[in-house]
Amino acid sequence: MAARRVGSPVAGVAEASGAPLVVLGAGYAGLTVAHGVWRASRGAIPTVLVDRNPVHVLRTELYEVGRLAAEEDSARWTVPLAKVFDRTSVTCRTGLVERIDLGGRVVGVGGAELPFRALAICLGSVPAYYGVPGAAEHTHQVYGLSGAKRLAKALREVERRSPGLPGERRPRIVVIGGGSTGTELAAEIATTDWRVIADPKAREPDVVLVTGALPLLDGLPAGLVGHARRLLRAAGVSIVHGLNTVRVEDGRVYLEDGTVLVCDLSVWCAGVEAPTLVRELPGPHGRSGRLRVAPTLELPGTPNVYAVGDVAEWTDPATGMVVPATAQAAIAEARTVAGNVVATWRGGTPRPFLYRERGAVVALGLGRAAASVRRVTLWGRPASLLKRAVQREYARTVERGEPSGVL
Ligand SMILES: Cc1cc2nc3c(=O)[nH]c(=O)nc-3n(C[C@H](O)[C@H](O)[C@H](O)COP(=O)(O)OP(=O)(O)OC[C@H]3O[C@@H](n4cnc5c(N)ncnc54)[C@H](O)[C@@H]3O)c2cc1C
Repeated sequence: MAARRVGSPVAGVAEASGAPLVVLGAGYAGLTVAHGVWRASRGAIPTVLVDRNPVHVLRTELYEVGRLAAEEDSARWTVPLAKVFDRTSVTCRTGLVERIDLGGRVVGVGGAELPFRALAICLGSVPAYYGVPGAAEHTHQVYGLSGAKRLAKALREVERRSPGLPGERRPRIVVIGGGSTGTELAAEIATTDWRVIADPKAREPDVVLVTGALPLLDGLPAGLVGHARRLLRAAGVSIVHGLNTVRVEDGRVYLEDGTVLVCDLSVWCAGVEAPTLVRELPGPHGRSGRLRVAPTLELPGTPNVYAVGDVAEWTDPATGMVVPATAQAAIAEARTVAGNVVATWRGGTPRPFLYRERGAVVALGLGRAAASVRRVTLWGRPASLLKRAVQREYARTVERGEPSGVL
């Protein structure tokens, strides 16, 4: 039989007062934790899910800026939380998380105090600018829905004005960061038909992807990267390899070798970091301020407090590799955390997390993609169909209130 865990005296107070499980953030991690706990405990564990927005944002689809620019309504990229949880006992609360007091076992939300018996911190990530002057002020980003919408609008405007550019000049868009986000975005911008969206005489954008010091799609299998490079070229994207961006101004991106890329618009896709609230929490932090977690995904020495998804840094004990900041990993972690919350609530012990990556798919515009799934490489239309099927299946199950771990 599993041993009962002994909580801290403060945890005992929260326990006795009937405090709930509080889940902070309703992204891929938070949504899966809240739903998983509800399902596994058959509604017996009181759960409060807090997010600043009343919707779950389909963040993995935010590179679709051409589509975002074409559609007035962005509802396609969100699912109302009320719809996801309407047949459950989970309480959804809209509010900004302002404070996390681990010792006092209470969080501050919209000026009110919310005590917790168990806590899942699932607050995602924000763009990391690495102190590059001008980057935060002068670049767009697609790490959140409002940023992606702003970028879509700005691109439409740049393209609307493009017929008036002098001579043969095309609008130049610089995408900084050669990971999946930058690659998908560069291909999407280059292959969108802006003549339909912005102006019948709109000129094709000249898209430059600056990979920085890291190679293109660093960490992904070589087969996938090779196809991605080829499809990017076919999409008309030029790639600048191996040079970090050192400064950004309005209409200018400065590279470390002195190159100045004059542009109409730039987008920052160079990486993410933990939000300030998370960075300021006590305890060990890893790369980019992520919270280092124990094998059970709890914060070390803080029972029943979990970090899940982009906020967490979990190192695989078998390989020494840090799990990547992806929705796929966030959902996998969240499933383990849901099981652990239920087990410990019932007096059992939490289990360690195990991660096995299922694969990666990178969209490359024009209904093409490059994928690596269980060591098999796919490219072109089949890979794109796979990507769309997985994304749509995830969205459909979330809308039905039965989120699957399909991503
Ligand atoms: C364009 C793009 C494409 C991507 N494609 C893929 C892909 O194909 N596959 C993949 O696996 N991953 C992909 N990713 C990465 C993936 O989106 C993230 O890893 C994933 O969203 C992490 O999930 P999360 O739950 O940790 O954070 P999020 O999904 O970001 O959720 C965090 C939640 O916390 C809320 N929140 C944050 N701060 C506060 C606060 N103070 N108060 C209240 N609420 C707050 C936010 O509103 C949000 O709902 C992509 C990312 C981007 C940007």
